[in-house]
Amino acid sequence: MNEADALRAAALLESAGFRPVEHARDAALLLLNTCVVRRQAEEKIYSRLTYVAELKRRNPARVVALMGCLVGKNPRELGRFRERFPDVDLFLPPSDLAPLRAFLEARGLLREAVADDDLPPPPLPDSRTGRAVVAHVPVVLGCSHACTYCVIPYRRGGERSRPAAEILAEVAALAARGVREIVLLGQIVDRYGLDRPGEIHLPELLRRVAAVPGLLRVRFLTSHPRWITDELIAAVATTPGLCPYFEIPVQAGSDAVLAAMRRGYAVADYEALVARVRAVLPQVGLSTDVIVGFPGETAAQFEETLALMRRIDPDMIRVAKYSPRPLTYSARHLPDDVPEAEKERRRVALEAQLRARLTEKNAPLLGQTVEILVESIEKNGRRHGRTPDYKPVFVEDSPAQPGDEIAARIVWAGPFSLVAAAT
Ligand code: SF4
Repeated sequence: MNEADALRAAALLESAGFRPVEHARDAALLLLNTCVVRRQAEEKIYSRLTYVAELKRRNPARVVALMGCLVGKNPRELGRFRERFPDVDLFLPPSDLAPLRAFLEARGLLREAVADDDLPPPPLPDSRTGRAVVAHVPVVLGCSHACTYCVIPYRRGGERSRPAAEILAEVAALAARGVREIVLLGQIVDRYGLDRPGEIHLPELLRRVAAVPGLLRVRFLTSHPRWITDELIAAVATTPGLCPYFEIPVQAGSDAVLAAMRRGYAVADYEALVARVRAVLPQVGLSTDVIVGFPGETAAQFEETLALMRRIDPDMIRVAKYSPRPLTYSARHLPDDVPEAEKERRRVALEAQLRARLTEKNAPLLGQTVEILVESIEKNGRRHGRTPDYKPVFVEDSPAQPGDEIAARIVWAGPFSLVAAAT
């Protein structure tokens, strides 16, 4: 979501005549997009801001903009930010470019043609070919679920779906510029349209996006186990171009921990969901997220998570160590009582188990031919792309260009990537 927001900001700046520079010290305008989902990410912002303050001191005419979750959606916080970050000229809430637009307009920099909120973001081009293949399109902004550990509802606000017509126009513009894969984004993407009376829902939106001329692939993320419907699974299975790939965070393998997180499902529900998806889509790529060291999580409860991972057998796990986030229920009411060393032990154990399993699981791919959408060209000439189920593949000795969909034979299979030879 942050990447999509940053690309929109870049589009606006480019339309106003700005060009990217290699080094921050050469920039006339610096825009920092921020993430506070974990404490470590937030700490990075403060160290960057120290550097930015130094650059501003050297050239006070330089404009500094701060964007994203650190700024948040609460206008009452702005005064506090202005005091705290005196070197920052502009504050942009997440997914909201209005302050940047107003700033450019006030300086007469904004051309009329782009003074429009529907401006599609420029795709991120491959530096060697200038061609962008994949674009992320936010369809649901914010989240109203309020898991006890999560700061997103406080920073990005409540759930808001964008109108389907606006999304489809943006997708058509991206496809016309050469984008071949669209990733629809939402904190709970499956809830698309449920907050807009009369709006279509995610399965229909996906069907319409997949029908846009020029597109080869469509994905969506992130799903929430409670909101994936059989209609959605069927749409993925039956619509050409929809990739067999689901990102469904589980967060923990213990019912007690899930209840403390207020995730809204039990372990058995998650397992039943995965079985439902695999019954219809046996070749599905499944990715999940896990938080280790949530307040009160015992070693035995963590063992339950390890066991759940063995049973559901995902193709990727993103592991995060719990850190208390301001305003959240868990930060206010639950002691952060799992020591850092123990959180790290749990993270390493999960990742080691995953690595061993993926090594075993990917081995039979050797010699098989897979479909790859080429996204970029590496410095060594290898083509980088992904399979429909989201496995990263490097293709050797291929003349393919970004945007080409090719068949290639797997010649090496590691746990986290594959190497293929063009057929
Ligand atoms: S559903 Fe996701 S974004 Fe929403 S509160 Fe829970 S973890 Fe945060």
